[in-house]
Amino acid sequence: MIDKRIETISDTAGYSDNDELKEECGVFGIYNNDDLDSGRVVYYGLFSLQHRGQESCGIAVTDDTVVKQYKDMGLVPDVFNSDILDNLTGKIAVGHVRYSTAGGSIRQNSQPLVSRYLKGALTISHNGNLVNALQLREKFENEGFIFQTTIDTEVIAYVIARERVKNPSIEEAISRMMDIVEGSYALLVMSPKKLIGCRDPRGIRPLVIGKRGNSYILSSESCALDSVGAEFVRDVEPGEIVVIDETGLHSIKTHCGKKKTALCIFELIYFARPDSYIEGISVYESRKEAGRQLALEHPVDADLVIGVPDSGIDAAIGYSEQSGIPYGKGLVKNRYIGRTFISPTQSAREDGVKIKLNALRSAVEGKRIIMVDDSIVRGTTVARLVKILRNAGAKEVHMRVSSPPFMWPCYYGTDVPTRDKLIACRYSLDEIADVAGVDSLGYLGIDKLESLKLGADFGHCDACFTGNYPTELPPVHEEEEKDNEIEIRKPPKFTIL
Ligand code: SF4
Repeated sequence: MIDKRIETISDTAGYSDNDELKEECGVFGIYNNDDLDSGRVVYYGLFSLQHRGQESCGIAVTDDTVVKQYKDMGLVPDVFNSDILDNLTGKIAVGHVRYSTAGGSIRQNSQPLVSRYLKGALTISHNGNLVNALQLREKFENEGFIFQTTIDTEVIAYVIARERVKNPSIEEAISRMMDIVEGSYALLVMSPKKLIGCRDPRGIRPLVIGKRGNSYILSSESCALDSVGAEFVRDVEPGEIVVIDETGLHSIKTHCGKKKTALCIFELIYFARPDSYIEGISVYESRKEAGRQLALEHPVDADLVIGVPDSGIDAAIGYSEQSGIPYGKGLVKNRYIGRTFISPTQSAREDGVKIKLNALRSAVEGKRIIMVDDSIVRGTTVARLVKILRNAGAKEVHMRVSSPPFMWPCYYGTDVPTRDKLIACRYSLDEIADVAGVDSLGYLGIDKLESLKLGADFGHCDACFTGNYPTELPPVHEEEEKDNEIEIRKPPKFTIL
């Protein structure tokens, strides 16, 4: 159980310092028209979205007059128990799982965010990051507004509350908010009588609609609908506002089609769960396609294709199918390690990799191995994995990456870090191969990203690979770029075990 007395006060986002990218957040909500246990439905939904955020979670419910909420730092099953859920009953409920990419990792920044204003209670769950949050916050602070948290969501809440006072309905206030804030947001808003969902006009983050009986559900991913026995209805369109109330589901499309769609392509490559569908695309099939394209682009003679658990497995299966080289297990993950595994200190990080992953000697000994993973961020893990495989007797290790090299940071709610921390910005491909200790290295080409959409027709964001950002950038970007003038071809400085 989390000791609630301990809080780490930090103003910085919780960027991970290992090579594993962290997801952003997950949202889940229900408008209960049946006799469902709303709190528990949201609990199971959040449990299925746990991969999108493991730092904190929360659920808020309303029954027209009162809002009850419970949130804390920690994983969904650690934060909630039966007694708590017994109290979370109501007509409408929203939940949130969080990983901090903006705002510190502290309890007061956890969501849903419940605010009180002239019209009553306003509850928000938000996935994404605003690029003009700092300017808006500064402007509002100059007007005298006091913020209780350091998250973008509170800026959104304030804009909605301010606009609601000037507009006749909450949905019109949300529509006005969409004219004012810039960036990525998949948002759930709970008012006393309505559950409202909206996606930013570019649709950077996903949001889907489900139905169970007469009840409507909104979720970041379709996998969470399956877990609560709900049917997938459709994706919320980029820019769409869906309003669910006692008369049913209504759609407002004033902001649809105004901006070029820019769904985060990394949702397909890594963030989303493989059993989810996004914009009609099976995430699993998309990852296999990335593996197939990799096999065509970077073929190599080998005996066995393995995936780095869990993120590289689907692409490894695709690589195997295309190349005809058998797929097998070569690395075993400690299944009990969970996402809350306490990362070791820098000096002991090598041990951390060994604790998480071990080679399957009987499978890799004497073999030429193709190891597939979804990405290389800082490059700190790959060298250790290669060493683990070689120690287990692998004759050759060829690394294949099912995404292009990361060259730019993300400002839309993921922790792709600044350029000075991205290995592909610092070293040439040959140098990365040297540092990693692999016999060959191949990344998915940028021109192959289109194939991940399996023929579906929508625009995507690939800014972390190309630098082509779909929005204006936050002011911090220019400062970072000044500070981080990249010195290409620095001599490799990783210590290989
Ligand atoms: S920059 Fe990369 S991680 Fe961020 S939204 Fe765009 S594709 Fe996704």
